[in-house]
Amino acid sequence: MSSTPRQNTLAREGALAGTGLHTGAPVKLRLLPAPVDTGIVFRRTDLPGSPEIPAHVSHVAGTDLGTTLGQGEAKVHTVEHLLAALVVRDIDNAWVEVDGHELPAGDGSATVFDRLLEGCGADEQDAPARYLPLDETFSLARNGSEYVVAPAEGYRVSPSIDFSHPLIGRQYGSFRVERESFAREVLPARTFGFLRDVEAMRGRGRAQGGSPENALVLTEDGLVEGTELRWSDEFVRHKALDLVGDLALVGARLRLHVVAERPGHAGNVALAKELVARAEKKMLARPILTIEQITQYLPHRYPFLLVDRVVEFEERKRIVGLKNVTINEPFFQGHFPGKPVMPGVLIIEAMAQVGGLLVLEQMENLDEKVVYFMSLDKVKWRRPVTPGDQIRFEVEVLQIRGATCKMRGVGTVDGNVVAEAEMMARVVDR
Ligand SMILES: [Zn+2]
Repeated sequence: MSSTPRQNTLAREGALAGTGLHTGAPVKLRLLPAPVDTGIVFRRTDLPGSPEIPAHVSHVAGTDLGTTLGQGEAKVHTVEHLLAALVVRDIDNAWVEVDGHELPAGDGSATVFDRLLEGCGADEQDAPARYLPLDETFSLARNGSEYVVAPAEGYRVSPSIDFSHPLIGRQYGSFRVERESFAREVLPARTFGFLRDVEAMRGRGRAQGGSPENALVLTEDGLVEGTELRWSDEFVRHKALDLVGDLALVGARLRLHVVAERPGHAGNVALAKELVARAEKKMLARPILTIEQITQYLPHRYPFLLVDRVVEFEERKRIVGLKNVTINEPFFQGHFPGKPVMPGVLIIEAMAQVGGLLVLEQMENLDEKVVYFMSLDKVKWRRPVTPGDQIRFEVEVLQIRGATCKMRGVGTVDGNVVAEAEMMARVVDR
């Protein structure tokens, strides 16, 4: 068994009814298991066609009082507490159905979602977990929030806040984002607001559900009647909760330490966008594979290694590899004497090796893996390949399901197609 972390979904569905914090409207929430690589996707079941809204920074529609996701007209408000609860349990894939435009507020913390997820359980899936690549330290300032981010072994957040209120003042916390301690120390921390703001917000039709039952409401010098703090620094703990929920919008697991000064939703979302932008840039700048690197991915050796170089690469999408064909190839001795022609099946083998690189690229623990080809389809040879030719293989992914990948490959020489095929490959443990 490989020790690479796997993706997780829910073992079974779960449901919850409640009231939205800002709208005060009743809402029903349903969590359902989802296949590998789905991510967390919201579904508005009360709207025609049940539109889907992926929990990703590219779908953020607002950061006023909470984080809002949107797709066209369909919106879901206040997603961050549920997302934090999902992160802590390493749930990568789930459908979140809601019949309104705001999630239930619960008591203003993530406890209600943590309990719901406890009941759903987790189910390990047949694909490696995705981690956001980051290998540099950087800082970001946005909307009065300041962040310093550094790569780390695990995931940690260290927020600090400064409010001129007798109960808050300057608060600092540092929390490891993992199941046990974060669920105990951070998920139960409640959102907070000032009574004067709540009254102003009510005037604007917001915070309709806001009451001491679902938020810490601060007066000028204390808390409104009937509320007690769970910790004296509950305020900064809630900021840690919001930060983890908002950063879940990168759509991958994180291994980094975020130090955050006065974090807020607008800043958190800007940071999530920056993390995604840096990861995408890193993917594009990925060095193209040389023959030395290719031999680390593929077990094939002379005379059966038929890829010389990889010149283009897009993760899980396409790859372009080259094979230089020379008169010194061993197969030309007998295929055919006096008339060297590259055997057609070896052209397809070379194409399959390029495709194998594309499949293996997404795997960890490469020395434990090998690619088997399960089927070939629509194979066509268009023209002969002879010494001196350079074959350019372009292989694109048609479908990935777990460890199985369907690809389409085309080999060309000087722009003319020499062979094409559809291939099905599966990665197995060696
Ligand atoms: Zn919050």
